[in-house]
Amino acid sequence: MSSIFNGPYTAISSAGAFGPQWLEQLVWQLLFVDGELAHYRVTLTSEDRHWRIVRPAPDTPIAAVRRLEHEFSLAPRLMPQWAVPPVALLSGSEGTLLVLEDASGMLLHDQPDAPLSIKAFLQRAIAAAAAVTGAHEAGLLHRDIKPCNLIEDANGGVRLSGFGLSVDEQLAPQLPVSDVTCGSLGYMAPEQSQQLQRRTDQRSDLYALGMTFYEWLAGRLPFEAADAVEWVYCHVARIPPPLSQRRGDIPAPLAGLVHRLIAKNPEDRYQSAAALHRDLSEMHQQWQQFRDIPDLQPDLPDGRHDASAVSPSPDPKPVAGLESLSSASTSTTLAGRDALDLSSVMKSAHAMRDESEQDRLIETLLRNTIIHAGAQRALLLLVKDEAPVICAIGQGGVDGLGIELTDRVPDKQHLPLSILYRVMRTRQRLVLDDVCTDAYFGADEYVRQHPVRSALCVPLVKQGRVLGVLYLENNLAPGVFTVCRTEVLELLASQAAIALETARLQQELEQENARRRDVEIALRGARARLAEVAQSTVMGELAASIAHEINQPLASMVSNAAAGIRWLNRDNPEVDEALSALRDIVAEGRRAGEIVNALHSLARQGPHHRRRLLVNDVIRHVVALTGVEVEQQRVLMTTHLTCSPLRVCASSVQLQQVVLNLILNALDAMSAGDHVLRRLSITSEVVGRDYVVVSVEDSGRGIEPENINQLFNAFFTTKDKGMGMGLAICQSIISAHGGHLYAMPARYGGATLVFTLPILE
Ligand code: ADP
Repeated sequence: MSSIFNGPYTAISSAGAFGPQWLEQLVWQLLFVDGELAHYRVTLTSEDRHWRIVRPAPDTPIAAVRRLEHEFSLAPRLMPQWAVPPVALLSGSEGTLLVLEDASGMLLHDQPDAPLSIKAFLQRAIAAAAAVTGAHEAGLLHRDIKPCNLIEDANGGVRLSGFGLSVDEQLAPQLPVSDVTCGSLGYMAPEQSQQLQRRTDQRSDLYALGMTFYEWLAGRLPFEAADAVEWVYCHVARIPPPLSQRRGDIPAPLAGLVHRLIAKNPEDRYQSAAALHRDLSEMHQQWQQFRDIPDLQPDLPDGRHDASAVSPSPDPKPVAGLESLSSASTSTTLAGRDALDLSSVMKSAHAMRDESEQDRLIETLLRNTIIHAGAQRALLLLVKDEAPVICAIGQGGVDGLGIELTDRVPDKQHLPLSILYRVMRTRQRLVLDDVCTDAYFGADEYVRQHPVRSALCVPLVKQGRVLGVLYLENNLAPGVFTVCRTEVLELLASQAAIALETARLQQELEQENARRRDVEIALRGARARLAEVAQSTVMGELAASIAHEINQPLASMVSNAAAGIRWLNRDNPEVDEALSALRDIVAEGRRAGEIVNALHSLARQGPHHRRRLLVNDVIRHVVALTGVEVEQQRVLMTTHLTCSPLRVCASSVQLQQVVLNLILNALDAMSAGDHVLRRLSITSEVVGRDYVVVSVEDSGRGIEPENINQLFNAFFTTKDKGMGMGLAICQSIISAHGGHLYAMPARYGGATLVFTLPILE
């Protein structure tokens, strides 16, 4: 290795020996890279002396350089018994270098033999605990304990390095909260992530040491995460998988010790490195003696030695949906809360953009919210018809974080109803640090069943209306949900609410569209069927009408022909009579033809050949035609026709049809029964100046009141051989001429059929 630095370096330490010439003679060996800092072992071959040098990568943010300066400033307090002391800080044109003593030992992060044997672990752990004890006794919080900052020296001792984030224990409580999110993500104590609004203290270092121990024993960290937000979530809310599950040969008290170190709540951890050192030494002794570690005498009255108190059981899988894992061991100084908040909000925004399915969207949003908040359990409720309904439940469990979409009425099994109702009523968020001990909410039935520590309940309000409620809880530690963080949660939650509302509207719209499509299809079908039916009805009606209307002239022709034959068959044939019968036949035949034409145009609804005509002429003509039948039925037929020359514009054939029908119906009505006097009266008169009114009145059996509204319906008939088409056709003809056709009781107990027609000027 050759020197990679050019240009003059000024030693800014007291060590004048580390000048440019010194640098030029060094042989460099890269040990590892920790984030922006590269660690080298350098050798001055001429003197066979070694140092370690930490050098920031090119374009490193100034904060990393500050960390080196800070570490160097601590040099007088870093004792070689427990620390690797810096010996010089060099500054040159290519950056700053921190020169450290070389402990000529191993870095404890890249051991090929990991996981360690129990014996090797105990020896190393004792040495590490001693080093941390040394730092704490010197009044320093290291704040970045991890394997690569623990260096085993030639004598088997462990020394701490990487003091760039360390602070004086006395100063720590005065640091602003936003300054304490630091350390390496995989090892960072919950309180160090400043998710919890608690100060870091020595117990935060013990947490990081516990994570290191876990890694040494299990070969890997208890958690895996994709980014800073998820790491924080893991430390705050996820229960580490029991060591015993990762490795079968770990004595329970040792596993208990490690789990106690990584308890979420600082109060549940070892309270000092010295106490830890003591227990480890005792375990080591037992191990030497028995190759086993029987239970230690618990030194706490509540027996918090027991690992099961903090690690319920099975082995959770990593949080679902992680592709790339972010580096767990790189030192980080997150730019305070805002960086995490922004990251969560961005994630949710991406979800809103990318997830088109409502269910997936709710899942993603709830997952983000849980991870962001450091919750163990979350419920998303929506208000439907004024009542809350649980629509999603998120729960950190043994298999990682599970989200269940549901549709349930909340009850005391699901969440503290007292909290839910309070939030719905007041529309104010509720942040509870330790629900179990809360005088009011502590009495809630749910809380009595489930020991809730931290709880947060946020109303999702849109335009003054409570759309839903988000409920979060964490039973591992009190004070997880701090008031200052709820704003981002509210933002996330309202994103969820808006997404849900939008999705609901979208769904309704789709349903509505689907309904409309169905209706349209049904309507089209109905129309098609209607058209078919109408077509066949028209055809049927037409056929029936033709039969009905043609029957009458045919009957008349047959009887005339029979009469003609009789006249001619006589011994003295009555040729004149026969001729007259033949003429009638011709007339009837013509009429039948005309009727067919008229019906044809009626069916087509086309224009009829209309002309100005005298209504009375039409009546007279039909009366003449029916004279024979009237006589045969012994009916007294009278006509009272107005003397004014009433002209209408009409088809004479159609009007004849109408009058004929009415007369024939009247004769039919009088045919049954033994009426003393059968009367048929036909009148025409003018009403006002506009209408001519023609009535055909008989003394028949009359019309049953229940039938009066059906007379004009096609196929309505009360006769055995009737077709029920006559009046229907009459009505359609009269309407086509701008008039009306009615039926009413007659003066002599029979029926009167009346039609009107507009008079021509
Ligand atoms: P059809 O004569 O083939 O029955 P219509 O349409 O001409 O068909 O008449 C329908 C029904 O109206 C008749 O069956 C009958 O019951 C009733 N009707 C029509 N005219 C009279 C009338 N003058 N007196 C009593 N009932 C009548």
